[in-house]
Amino acid sequence: MSDAHREALLRAALEMAGRGIPVFPLWPGTKIAVWHRPDRCPRTGACVEGHVTPEDLATLDPDRIRWRWGDRPWNVGVFPGPAGRIVVDCDQPKTGTGPDGWDQLQTLAVERGGPLPDTWTVTTPSGGRHLWFRVPPGCRLRGTVKHIAPHVDTRCWGTYALAPGCVFEGGAYELFDDASEAEFPGWLIQANVEHASTAISGSGDKPVKAPDAFAAAAVRGETDRVRREPKGQRNKVLSTAAYALGQLVGAHVLDEHLARTELQAAVAAWNTPESRVKDHGVIETSLAAGARNPRRITGKAA
Ligand SMILES: [Zn+2]
Repeated sequence: MSDAHREALLRAALEMAGRGIPVFPLWPGTKIAVWHRPDRCPRTGACVEGHVTPEDLATLDPDRIRWRWGDRPWNVGVFPGPAGRIVVDCDQPKTGTGPDGWDQLQTLAVERGGPLPDTWTVTTPSGGRHLWFRVPPGCRLRGTVKHIAPHVDTRCWGTYALAPGCVFEGGAYELFDDASEAEFPGWLIQANVEHASTAISGSGDKPVKAPDAFAAAAVRGETDRVRREPKGQRNKVLSTAAYALGQLVGAHVLDEHLARTELQAAVAAWNTPESRVKDHGVIETSLAAGARNPRRITGKAA
């Protein structure tokens, strides 16, 4: 990636900080936080007084942002919760058929008497969209996965989101509607919190966390292998990689949504319209199979 990419990502980070949303770096071209797990903490630098998390380190300070984004084209991670924001993440169905998250959200708005106000909106490379809202004072909402609807997640406390301008092999997050951020409607607050204890079933429903360095290295290793694979063995390499990452999902050290999107990004270069559905099917089947046979993790900090 060029210097122009780095400059554009620096501007994206400054723009989010200017909106009052703290930012932190993600590895270039990925959604993976630049950080280490607690039990591998070097107790130096930012951690000299004790281990700190990306959430602790996220910043609004323009000077720190200029320094950080001065060397590499880091993607821009943001924490909506502490900034009083929530992001509604509407995804495409993995199978390529059926209503997508945006359709499901509009249907839900009708069922619940809406409204679904115009708000600041970002599009994703996979054809999804992120709707940004302000959380009413006094509400502290958790991020959710497949909770509001099958293809609708939320990013708030305990989860991070990506800023418009983030770049991936398959495309970029782009500002789609520069409307001002609307207040999160009451019916969506209700949908976000209701049945929170019963609706959560299995690791895939846990909110996205920053993967620790071990899981992040596994994601990089597996997706690199997939990217490098020439025609011929692709199916086998993809299913092996997805199974391995599924085992980490099953062991609760890797977020399912992140594993899926990284694998989809890795095969994006191979994809034709026909192969996309097939490749995504291989990812789903193998991720699920791996998750049913979780990897045993030793020495994992709580
Ligand atoms: Zn540390």
